Amino acid sequence: MKNMHADVIVIGGGPAGLMAAVAAAEYGAKVVLLDKGSKLGRKLAISGGGRCNVTNRADVEEIIAHIPGNGRFMYSPFSVFNNEDIIQFFENLGIKLKEEDNGRMFPVSDKAITVVKTLIEKVQSLKVSIRTRTEVNEVLYDFSNSKVKGVQLVSGEVIEAPNVIIAVGGKSVPHTGSTGDGYPWAKKAGHTITELYPTEVPITANDRFIKNKELQGLSLRNVKLSVLDPKSKKLVKGHVGDMIFTHFGISGPIVLRCSQYVVKAKKKYQVKAVPLALDLFPDKHVDTVITEIESLLVEQPKKAVKNVLNSWVPERLLPLLFKISDIDPLMIQPEISKEKIRSLANVVKSFHISATGTLSLEKAFVTGGGVSVKELQPKRMESKLMKGLFFCGEVLDIHGYTGGYNITVAFSTGYTAGQAAAMNMWE
Ligand SMILES: Cc1cc2nc3c(=O)[nH]c(=O)nc-3n(C[C@H](O)[C@H](O)[C@H](O)COP(=O)(O)OP(=O)(O)OC[C@H]3O[C@@H](n4cnc5c(N)ncnc54)[C@H](O)[C@@H]3O)c2cc1C
Repeated sequence: MKNMHADVIVIGGGPAGLMAAVAAAEYGAKVVLLDKGSKLGRKLAISGGGRCNVTNRADVEEIIAHIPGNGRFMYSPFSVFNNEDIIQFFENLGIKLKEEDNGRMFPVSDKAITVVKTLIEKVQSLKVSIRTRTEVNEVLYDFSNSKVKGVQLVSGEVIEAPNVIIAVGGKSVPHTGSTGDGYPWAKKAGHTITELYPTEVPITANDRFIKNKELQGLSLRNVKLSVLDPKSKKLVKGHVGDMIFTHFGISGPIVLRCSQYVVKAKKKYQVKAVPLALDLFPDKHVDTVITEIESLLVEQPKKAVKNVLNSWVPERLLPLLFKISDIDPLMIQPEISKEKIRSLANVVKSFHISATGTLSLEKAFVTGGGVSVKELQPKRMESKLMKGLFFCGEVLDIHGYTGGYNITVAFSTGYTAGQAAAMNMWE
């Protein structure tokens, strides 16, 4: 039987692969898109809480600042296809987008499926040959000429092509199809795979108040969480926003953002636990907090301190705060020393949590590490080692915070790879 032939094979139908297929086909290539799942865009469909945070409206500098994993590499792919191009792309397809807090862009329908469906229809309209339930086993290389030859499927079928785009995602949430298949293919071509680790993932902790579930379910708004080194120095600027205590530790937007620094600090300092500092009043100096406590107490001098301060901080936190600052909750204002008040203020400004790690890579929203960007041509996403081999999306050693940054990376690198792969046909 004669092997099937294409100009460009795209492996993976997530946001990176779908956008790569669109760009390659628009630039005139005969494209085959392969995905091992029965549906395309499965992770995209559950992203952004099922609403699909397609991109972010911030300017490029701001977006790059929100991509802590090799964000600077993105200057080049963004020069080809950036967040404004993504917005334009979807609006041209009739999907109305709306901007929410922190520049996050969502479809007006609030349904990720609108985005996924429209993207697939666009791919179909460009006559891309889409094959679902088609798992790639290997990427085939002509090592003597350092160029790609095609792919072999798990079924044994070979598809030949001078360009192969690997868009198989990372290793997180494997039921969506991303099971880390791209790394061995990249390695075989000579690429470096940087260490994989979970990012944007809940943090585990072993403090007594976590173990005895004292705070489970308590959510805090507009607080600041910082990751500290073993000498209690802040490792990175803290993140301000919301979080929640869980049965295993902490979760929520600011926790996800801090998670990668916990993983890195644990490794760097070879410690079992990494200290975190939680600031309940990030906008207030500790002296202002002291004054605030004092005036609340003075206003009600005969009332027990636990009843005076029960609406000043979440009531469930109070017993713990009193315990740490050695205050008897039944004390009244005249009995409480200045030191005790200072100690309470210090605790609310820097409440310590002992992070033992994070949930697993499989449970993480995003995979950190991956195909090293140093071995890629940034304006093409093509391998410097193997002609016709391209990478895009989460398989790369690029990761952003949640907030549309990863999907932006996937669309941008996907488009860049697809366009460059098609251009190879005209050289
Ligand atoms: C619950 C959740 C919420 C998220 N929310 C956000 C958010 O709000 N903002 C944000 O920026 N990011 C978010 N992300 C991350 C974002 O969804 C991913 O970074 C993005 O989907 C990665 O796109 P990708 O195309 O590289 O890979 P994927 O979307 O993982 O797609 C990879 C595709 O490759 C296919 N594949 C894998 N191996 C093979 C093989 N051997 N043969 C054939 N096909 C194969 C898979 O079936 C899959 O369809 C979220 C992730 C999760 C899990």
